[in-house]
Amino acid sequence: MDNCIFCKIIAKQIPASVVYEDDELLAFKDINPAAPVHLLVIPKQHVASLSDCTDAHAPVLGKMLALAPKLAAEHGIAVKTGPDGERSGGYKTLFNVGPDGGQEVYHLHLHVYGGPRPWRGLGT
Ligand code: 5GP
Ligand code: ZN
Repeated sequence: MDNCIFCKIIAKQIPASVVYEDDELLAFKDINPAAPVHLLVIPKQHVASLSDCTDAHAPVLGKMLALAPKLAAEHGIAVKTGPDGERSGGYKTLFNVGPDGGQEVYHLHLHVYGGPRPWRGLGT
């Protein structure tokens, strides 16, 4: 898509701090992080929003979500379980969908953000 900022990142026409790339997906650091770690996972094939996804997108959506815990582990925000079973760490995964959902960039993206609190988070 000609005027899509994330398509331009995929095409390396504008820079981004890329943390993961394969045939279908790209992940990079959010330019305005809402938490100590804030990554965006996007499909390389342009689709504007989760609201435009159909059953045909289920595989790529699954891959996007399945990438989140791997990225979280690589960036030090994975959930850990201590010797007594207590959990620590963690992050959020989020799709903003449409104007009332707070979506500003119309290329499907999964936010993966977290790390030691406090942090402001996203939206309301
Ligand atoms: P949305 O509100 O659409 O769910 O989130 C869009 C996200 O993209 C925002 O968190 C914003 O900071 C991020 N973003 C917008 N433009 C750029 C950019 O050019 N580069 C990067 N790395 N992130 C961007
Ligand atoms: Zn795009």
